[in-house]
Amino acid sequence: MSPTVDEPKWRPPDVDPAWRIYVNRSLRLASIRAIGFDMDHTLACYAPEPFEALAFRQAAAKLVACGYPRAIRRMRHDRGLVQRGLIVDRRCGNLLKMDRHRYVVQAFHGTRKLPREMRKARYANRRIRIGARFAAIDTFFALPEITLYAQLVDLLDRAAERPHYSRIYDDVRAAVDEAHADGSIKRAIARRPLHYLQTDPQLAATLEQLRSAGMRLFLLTNSEANYTGLIMERLLGRRISERPQWCDFFDSIVVRAGKPGFFTRRAALVPLAARALRLKGRQTCRFFTRGSVGALEAELGVSGAEVLYFGDHTYGDILKSKRSCGWRTAMIVPDLEEEIQHLEQTRQARAELAVLERRIDQLDAARDFLTRAAAGQLAPQGVRRFLRQRGLRGGSRAIPEHLAAIERQMQELAGQIRTQEAGIEARFHPHWGPLFRAGREISHFGQQVEKFACIYTSRVSNFGYYPMEKYFVASAAPMPHER
Ligand code: IMP
Ligand code: MG
Repeated sequence: MSPTVDEPKWRPPDVDPAWRIYVNRSLRLASIRAIGFDMDHTLACYAPEPFEALAFRQAAAKLVACGYPRAIRRMRHDRGLVQRGLIVDRRCGNLLKMDRHRYVVQAFHGTRKLPREMRKARYANRRIRIGARFAAIDTFFALPEITLYAQLVDLLDRAAERPHYSRIYDDVRAAVDEAHADGSIKRAIARRPLHYLQTDPQLAATLEQLRSAGMRLFLLTNSEANYTGLIMERLLGRRISERPQWCDFFDSIVVRAGKPGFFTRRAALVPLAARALRLKGRQTCRFFTRGSVGALEAELGVSGAEVLYFGDHTYGDILKSKRSCGWRTAMIVPDLEEEIQHLEQTRQARAELAVLERRIDQLDAARDFLTRAAAGQLAPQGVRRFLRQRGLRGGSRAIPEHLAAIERQMQELAGQIRTQEAGIEARFHPHWGPLFRAGREISHFGQQVEKFACIYTSRVSNFGYYPMEKYFVASAAPMPHER
């Protein structure tokens, strides 16, 4: 006799889906001894519009200063043009969206959508390899440079003489790089931090909860000491009385870490004075710059899978820390909140789409059956039964007509499906659709999250909704034959 399982009569209210922690690979919090955090876009969430517009303006000004048309100054950052996870085809001035198999499902030339035939002609049956020609846009920092690039491609396509698209890309990249490196962006943020930062009132309490559970906490950022001090003070300074200084939440702080190289090189941590981070008085925490993962693990007395690292950058934070040293990874995906809201809003439309898809599947199966019947592959009585059950008249002789009718219905349904899909996708993003999907497939971005993040969530403070002994269990993903 098989065991019976009682359906629970009562269950506690679930955490709101927007704030839930999603699990790709099971993770037992009790087995974690140290938790690390990236700073920018992980602990420090920036208000997208002003932050990206700032980088856009700074880079545009630098391009004008080195000879690009002054018309660039009138361009504006437009989030509607770009999405994380896209790929830039530097040779052709195109933006591409790839699915998890690395095939292109959507393409824009500059800011204009490439017609389907042109996209197919250029990219069909070709797997994209990220490298010299194809550049990945996987951080929030990269979004403004891509909207600038796309608008420049449009502008220079109209010019009598246009530099190569790859040259334009390199110049935009260099301008953004310089705006980060020479402090232009950070100086502007330092003047009005609260205009650019989205502070999270729950963050301090969540870190405190993790500390109380006995975890060692560390900060590991590529940002400079002074800037880190400025931002962290806004996020955590004087939030709780037991920890008046922001650094009181941490055991170790590493700035200018040089990730992803940090995860692969061998180098000692270089001690740093607290005043470099704008801190005064006494601190228990230790401060460093540079170093390497081995040196940091020795400093904290932990290693490999005892460490859980929170980051926003698929490559620099998540992929590298997981692959190179076996750290467990938690990816912060702030866009998840909006994505989940769009999933809610399109629930009805997606249910209607599923009905259309089931109908076309049925027609497809009927077409297969009748095609085999017409070829004489099936027993006549089975064919007669099939025709009778579906009310198809005329016997076997009429099969070609039935097949033609099915073909027409399928074409009509395919058109309805395309319209329904386009409507749903536009609700997520006007040009690029859902972040985690590329047509019917998981997007390249979605696949990276699935493959490299043990868990993912929209913000660090979502941990506050769970007990500190939580066993985050991955749900078994069925293969097509198991569904
Ligand atoms: P993290 O995310 O806390 O590790 O910090 C990211 C750091 O990288 C920030 O200080 C950014 O200003 C910096 N950054 C982001 N993009 C670029 C770039 O293109 N060039 C140079 N620095 C960058
Ligand atoms: Mg970051």
